[in-house]
Amino acid sequence: MPADVTPPRSADGSDAPVLSVRGLRKSFGSNEVLSGIDLDVRRGRVVAIIGPSGSGKTTVLRSLNSLEVPDAGTVTLSDGRTIDFGATVGKRDLTALRDRSSMVFQHFNLFPHLTVLQNVVEGPVRVQKRDPREARAEAETLLARVGLAEKADAYPSELSGGQQQRVGIVRALALRPELLLFDEPTSALDPELVGDVLTVVKELADDGWTMIVVTHELEFARRVADELVFMADGAVVERGAPADVLSRPREARTQQFLRRVL
Ligand code: ADP
Repeated sequence: MPADVTPPRSADGSDAPVLSVRGLRKSFGSNEVLSGIDLDVRRGRVVAIIGPSGSGKTTVLRSLNSLEVPDAGTVTLSDGRTIDFGATVGKRDLTALRDRSSMVFQHFNLFPHLTVLQNVVEGPVRVQKRDPREARAEAETLLARVGLAEKADAYPSELSGGQQQRVGIVRALALRPELLLFDEPTSALDPELVGDVLTVVKELADDGWTMIVVTHELEFARRVADELVFMADGAVVERGAPADVLSRPREARTQQFLRRVL
């Protein structure tokens, strides 16, 4: 990777938290979806979140990307700024939080009317006001990195799901975020396309990108994550080293889930 698209480092090279989440709560009407989530993501580490459908995993990611506004709890950013969702949260706080991360969506969410290259440079040029030529050059480098150099001028509908998701990943990287958020990045793919996408995610982890990955791919989580978080019913039930949580789960709820899916 060229120097300008390597993962951001802290000034002192430490692995201090990129984000610290405390007591995050969110309800939709009377449905409490998050009932007090704590999460620390250290620089260069990978946190995988697993759990049954409906347990609130996506809502955690969407909250960290300001796509949802939690009802309570705090998020402390790497510069020490704390956003308190129990107090009045201003647009500037939400923007500061959103700018830390970029999200890779389950269904890719590419703009169908834009080419691959246009999809990738849209954020850097339109939102971040970066120099278009530089953004294009960087986008082309990133596309080559994931094996899609020849697809720069194709439209999303001309690509396989796996190729579209690799574009989704490049689009997230092009924003140079501190933190990458993956929301079940392979669950919409045909089984034979899953491997290519997981390989790209693993390479990014090896390069030192900080990431939270919501996934159903437990073997992938075991290989790539530094910490595995098991959520159920809007709460963190258990967390720890992936091998421990997957092979020796302590909580009955985790054991029950793993029995069903392994
Ligand atoms: P998971 O990612 O673990 O499957 P989600 O975070 O997607 O869980 O959803 C958790 C719960 O929140 C589900 O019951 C879901 O129906 C509900 N939910 C999520 N988003 C909304 C929304 N925008 N409006 C109402 N309910 C929602």
